Amino acid sequence: MADIFAYIKHADGVAEDSALELMVAAKKIDPAAKVMAVVTGTGANLDKVCKEMAAVYNAVWKIDNAALAYPNAEVVRKALANVLPADGIVLLSHDTFGMDLGPGLSVKMNSTFVADIVGIEGVDGATLKIIRQEFSGQASTHVTCDISGGTVLNLRPGVFQPDGVKAGGDVVDKSGAAGDLSAKRKYLEMVAAEAGDVDITKSEVLVSVGRGIEDQENIELVFDLAKAMGADVSCSRPIVDAKWLEKARQVGTSGQTVKPKVYMAMGISGSFQHLGGIKGNPFIVAVNKNPKAPIFQVADVGIEANILEFIPALTEAIGNL
Ligand SMILES: Cc1cc2nc3c(=O)[nH]c(=O)nc-3n(C[C@H](O)[C@H](O)[C@H](O)COP(=O)(O)OP(=O)(O)OC[C@H]3O[C@@H](n4cnc5c(N)ncnc54)[C@H](O)[C@@H]3O)c2cc1C
Repeated sequence: MADIFAYIKHADGVAEDSALELMVAAKKIDPAAKVMAVVTGTGANLDKVCKEMAAVYNAVWKIDNAALAYPNAEVVRKALANVLPADGIVLLSHDTFGMDLGPGLSVKMNSTFVADIVGIEGVDGATLKIIRQEFSGQASTHVTCDISGGTVLNLRPGVFQPDGVKAGGDVVDKSGAAGDLSAKRKYLEMVAAEAGDVDITKSEVLVSVGRGIEDQENIELVFDLAKAMGADVSCSRPIVDAKWLEKARQVGTSGQTVKPKVYMAMGISGSFQHLGGIKGNPFIVAVNKNPKAPIFQVADVGIEANILEFIPALTEAIGNL
């Protein structure tokens, strides 16, 4: 089997949680495979992440270049296409950046591409058996993929939970092989999100509300429950789009990244854009009236109920304690 390469996302010298998840996924593809972390960036922060990843992966391929200081998928794509072997199996996190990078990378490498993978069933010869989701997570599809000529696989964040697997290896500097990294798309600056009344990135317990709340008037129910629990209120994007709550409370790839100990998902379907903002492996309680809602696949406790009845009942029960 070809070597496996996991692309590591990082910020401010800290690798994202997906770094460990990709290692778990790689071992599901082939427990005996040599798995390399590929880390791009520049300077001391890059070195810090490489050192961290060297404790986990069989080797770390470092690509240091000033052009890689910002996560510009166009530039990363060029670097990876030049550095990685054509038959490599490349693992990416299925988030906004992964979707920016993956399809074009597979075209450049002339390999296959599979998005939003939620399960790996193993390899039979050159055939990889995987499970992915379609129709907003309402249906699971079992797919085979010929990986003999290389492949790029986008893995849904939060599904392949870190299990402490550690290989340990050296950092290999591949910067010289990255080639010309000029790009037509340029990052000008990072603009931090507006601060709101509450900083949900620091909350230990979040009661998060989605479109299932149905009406702006019902949002008050969620604040009552959060108050009873000593929690903060967060939400999915449609709630912000409807202007029922401010942007600072949105969890997800285009909102905040949260790391609570407990995450209560109330009337949230569980799109990958929403789940992509939930890190740190919290205890997830999901309440949804649809038993097939994808959120139940990542929930530690799933409750099939109407939140308009469930939320006030729980608030009252807590008040009676
Ligand atoms: C580029 C891009 C970026 C995005 N970024 C984000 C992001 O950062 N964060 C984010 O959240 N989304 C984001 N999205 C949107 C995302 O794709 C989903 O549309 C969104 O997460 C869905 O929100 P939801 O779960 O609240 O709504 P829905 O998907 O409509 O789900 C509502 C759920 O409530 C349930 N429900 C309905 N009524 C009740 C009831 N009475 N009781 C119990 N359950 C009920 C339904 O069964 C359903 O599962 C992004 C999309 C794109 C394209």
